[in-house]
Amino acid sequence: MQIERVETYPLLYRLPQAYGDANGYKKYRSSYLIRLITRSGIDGWGEVIDWLPTLDIGFRERIIPYLVGKHASDRLEIVKTISKWHQRSASGVSMALTEIVAKRAGLSVCELWGGAMHQKVPLYASFQSYSEDADWMTRSISRVANQVASGFCKVKVKIGGRKIRDDQKHIEYLMNSLSPDVRVALDANQSYDLSAMLEWKHFLSRYPNWMWIEEPMPMEKVQEYARLRQALSVPLAGGENLTRCQQFLPLYMQGAIDIAQPDSMHTEGIDEYRTHVALARQFGYRISPHAYDGSLSRLYALFAQACLPAWSKMAGEELEPVELDVMDNPFTGLFELTYAKGEALLPQGPGIGLEPNWDVIRAFRWDGSMYV
Ligand code: MG
Repeated sequence: MQIERVETYPLLYRLPQAYGDANGYKKYRSSYLIRLITRSGIDGWGEVIDWLPTLDIGFRERIIPYLVGKHASDRLEIVKTISKWHQRSASGVSMALTEIVAKRAGLSVCELWGGAMHQKVPLYASFQSYSEDADWMTRSISRVANQVASGFCKVKVKIGGRKIRDDQKHIEYLMNSLSPDVRVALDANQSYDLSAMLEWKHFLSRYPNWMWIEEPMPMEKVQEYARLRQALSVPLAGGENLTRCQQFLPLYMQGAIDIAQPDSMHTEGIDEYRTHVALARQFGYRISPHAYDGSLSRLYALFAQACLPAWSKMAGEELEPVELDVMDNPFTGLFELTYAKGEALLPQGPGIGLEPNWDVIRAFRWDGSMYV
């Protein structure tokens, strides 16, 4: 399992129409795929999210020369070393090394991890609600309606980027347009303090179908989260930017959230991500992975979810959903998921059970030009 060569595929898509959340507008979407190939011809794919020029020079000058000649079976040591240089790159390398080992054993990633306990994993459709258009609310509501019509019954929309009364107007229109069977999450991207979030308390009490409130405040405000959780009857979720397991511990110890949302690309590799997932279950918290920025990382989040015991005995609610980006983004289909009625079917076969979509890779190869 000695690594002979590493291929890299930096991909960029400039959005014809920007969209965004409380953090601002996105003008482009990107992906950085890596493919590690062993001497015996076994390959494994990895995915990294960051600014492409940074990744490109990092891989070319440092990570690839380090990887060539190493053995894929030494994953933990390799990932530990690369994470000292660039944590997100280490995460991508860990995916590729995991797949190589699984393929060598003739197993799927889930089988390597002990076997899937669920063959289908629920998804929720994730939206960016804001745009520069005057009619952004109408556009947002019609985007959600289209996805609900296509079978999604769980959706996430954004708040926190406009005045509270404007956001409430948007969400009120949305809630009134949806069947109460559709579950809705609101993501504030850490925009509020406690009193601003409590301004939503009365509004929230008017609807029964909330899925969760995501990151209403900065995640380090653990005590305020615990107080908010006491004050609201809606579950609190968060943690997409927490890289280390111990950063979640205060949230669990102080009962500050209901749902942990680690992102497999933000942790120090897939093994570390699985520790995040296991830790949340150990403490009795739910896990709904943040998986907005990548196709392969979403697949790994699905694998990890499929290998989890149910969080509840409630029929149809046994497993927490994984995020699916449904905005304009060609890279969502890089590793094409099969899904229907808001549930993803696990791919079968050795490794990840899928090949990347080469048409997307060819169409969006980054030309090396600068972008911001
Ligand atoms: Mg979020």
